[in-house]
Amino acid sequence: MKPDKLYFSFLIDCEATQPAVNDKKLGERSSRSFGAVLEKHGLRGTFHVIPTDIEASPKVYRDLHAAGHEIGLHLHPAADGYAEFFGVYGPDEQRKILSEAKDRFVSSLGFEPGSLCIGYGSVNDFSYGVFHDLGFRHGTTCIPTRVLPECASVHAGKPLDLHYAHRWNRVLVGDLDYVEVPCTLDPDSRMWGGKHPLDLRVELVDTKNHWYTIKKAVDRQVAAKTPVKQIRGATHNTFEFGAKGDFRRETLEGIIRAAQSIAEAAGLDLKGVTTRELAAIYRKTVPLGSTATHLALDRRGYLSGAAAKPIESANKKKSAGKRKARA
Ligand SMILES: [Zn+2]
Repeated sequence: MKPDKLYFSFLIDCEATQPAVNDKKLGERSSRSFGAVLEKHGLRGTFHVIPTDIEASPKVYRDLHAAGHEIGLHLHPAADGYAEFFGVYGPDEQRKILSEAKDRFVSSLGFEPGSLCIGYGSVNDFSYGVFHDLGFRHGTTCIPTRVLPECASVHAGKPLDLHYAHRWNRVLVGDLDYVEVPCTLDPDSRMWGGKHPLDLRVELVDTKNHWYTIKKAVDRQVAAKTPVKQIRGATHNTFEFGAKGDFRRETLEGIIRAAQSIAEAAGLDLKGVTTRELAAIYRKTVPLGSTATHLALDRRGYLSGAAAKPIESANKKKSAGKRKARA
């Protein structure tokens, strides 16, 4: 029997021209060197880029695209003159904000964006329908178990694994042809006062901590027989991945080594993929519509009107015996 596969992907959110960072050169260095580190290990990444980074450095992203990396769209509405969080908007405003960003992407790069990523994971129950209507078919647009209402980013109850989105509810599995590809995370290790799970974001912790997150995620998927098993890391183009000895570069390479050794120990065949490739594998493995949630109230706790029977005591015989002895 062929060994089961473990798919491995990495995304980078490119937003160095955001007002808070405002360093185009850093963004270019970081994106190019992140791509080079992945290529050194035979991998191709998914770059989610905000419109202002694309317009500042179109050649960088055309070159990365030509080298086989996936170039997708990242969105921080504040960088385009809107409010900070996408998830506070209604469907018409979301459609306007996202279609403007997509148009800027296409007119700068000359091709359609692949994967989609919304800043802060700030989405609401209108968002998946808007993504689909605008032609997006896959992305990382949730952070399962996160409860961060101050960023309109609440994902408690969201599946940890790949799934089709639901048009009207952001946490349910649905039959919308949009494959959600969550990053790897540990739902039990909490950060930021317990609101955010420790995820496989390079800059959050060191290789040792990421090792435990990967190991736990692999063990869980093997035990659950998850149809498409995956490990997915993330980062931002605000770190010097090109500098030897840079802590973030070392952590990035540490995550790659950890994924390799954990997959090997589990007897899994590790395969590098972009988000587009992973979504295509998911579509082939899990037919659209076969997993949609059919909701039903769990009625097991609704007791009938029958009177409760007496409960037999575990110590009945022993105590009866004692009474007899005393008599
Ligand atoms: Zn971002």
